[in-house]
Amino acid sequence: MQKYRVLSFVIIHLLIFLHIAGFGQELIGSLDFQELFHSFLRIGTINAGVIMVFIAFFTTLIFGRFFCGWACHFGAIQELSWVILQKLNITPRTVNSRLVVLFPLFILLHFYIIPNLDYALNHNWKISIVTNTPDIWAFLPGFTIGLLTFFVDGFLIVYFLGRKGFCRFLCPWGAFLKLPSALAVYKIRKVGNCSQCGTCTQNCPIGIDVSFEINNFNKVVNTNCTNCMLCTDGCPTSAIKYAFTNPLKEDYQLSDFFIGDKTYKSSVIKQFFINFRVNDIWLGLLSFIIGFAIDGLFGMGHFLSFGIALIISFNLLNVHVNKQVRRIIASITFILICWAVSVKYSIKEGINAYQKKNYHSTIKYLQYSTSVYPNNIGKYFIYLADAYFEIGDVENAKKYTEIAFKINPQHQSVKQLQIKISNK
Ligand code: SF4
Ligand code: SF4
Repeated sequence: MQKYRVLSFVIIHLLIFLHIAGFGQELIGSLDFQELFHSFLRIGTINAGVIMVFIAFFTTLIFGRFFCGWACHFGAIQELSWVILQKLNITPRTVNSRLVVLFPLFILLHFYIIPNLDYALNHNWKISIVTNTPDIWAFLPGFTIGLLTFFVDGFLIVYFLGRKGFCRFLCPWGAFLKLPSALAVYKIRKVGNCSQCGTCTQNCPIGIDVSFEINNFNKVVNTNCTNCMLCTDGCPTSAIKYAFTNPLKEDYQLSDFFIGDKTYKSSVIKQFFINFRVNDIWLGLLSFIIGFAIDGLFGMGHFLSFGIALIISFNLLNVHVNKQVRRIIASITFILICWAVSVKYSIKEGINAYQKKNYHSTIKYLQYSTSVYPNNIGKYFIYLADAYFEIGDVENAKKYTEIAFKINPQHQSVKQLQIKISNK
């Protein structure tokens, strides 16, 4: 089965590269999962991305989370990372934590559902169909941030948190597909005698205690299952199979999905997992603080910011990491958080002050943020230049207009500022 999965990844990625190269762009725009939220939920537009998500949702109701295990590029890069680590004789252990449920759900709600729903409720929401917009780069980061995102969420996270660390701890699309996955009619089911050897659990890239689940529920109930078939492929007694059950005869118990501590307990299975549940509150808290502190800086998206945050937090709390190393990480992290918070606070206050025409405060805050945050964001320099102009300091107004001009010579606000200053 695995060769078909690899083939699926290869074909999907060839199509992605063809699309990026321009193939079909006049008909098909961005195929990003977030189109469902930014386009459909927000303004009612059905585009190619939205159609893809609808297909993923409804096929998951039947076949389970195939999209995650057979098509997703983040899934593929984590698999590649795993193969590379295996070649290097490194086998990361999967981290068992309650955050695999909470974190992706939080990201989904906080960044994608709530703000777009709020917008929809306060604006004119109208269904329309436009398949070729937005263009494929609309919500994607630049090359450097994109590469860093793949490195952190595709490679580093696998090394520290386990084979599918990103899918389990961060992916909001996975969280979105959990509900249809719970109802899927095709599942991994127990069909024969199980010797409880634990191979299926060991093979599961998602870190599901397959052996426990099939022996207690006769099926895999964990909604993180991506139907990769690694468990069925490796079972020595063919005790498990990807099989259909009539949904009317299926035994759905809500409690099955909250098995938490009951699983991962057998001594055979313990060796495959790092049980981090005792640290869950701290892991969550630290990850939130670091994630929110750095999110958006240097154009970092949520996936990258919270990926970095999780990896740092995990290492800070992991007693197997040398104490001295943890102290150094803690000190650097503390400085990083202070710096990031001070930058974000200054930007926010500076913009607020500018909007209230409080130009001395604008200068105080934006002068600070632009000096300690080396990033070419023209609008901060425009505000700064205008604030200087308004208090009569033409020299500084000229200086910051020039910086804004260098960043974006075509920007309308820069041209308006130049005219304003020259008319003085
Ligand atoms: S690999 Fe097969 S026999 Fe071994 S625990 Fe899993 S289902 Fe049972
Ligand atoms: S339970 Fe089986 S099919 Fe599901 S993710 Fe784990 S190994 Fe793959």
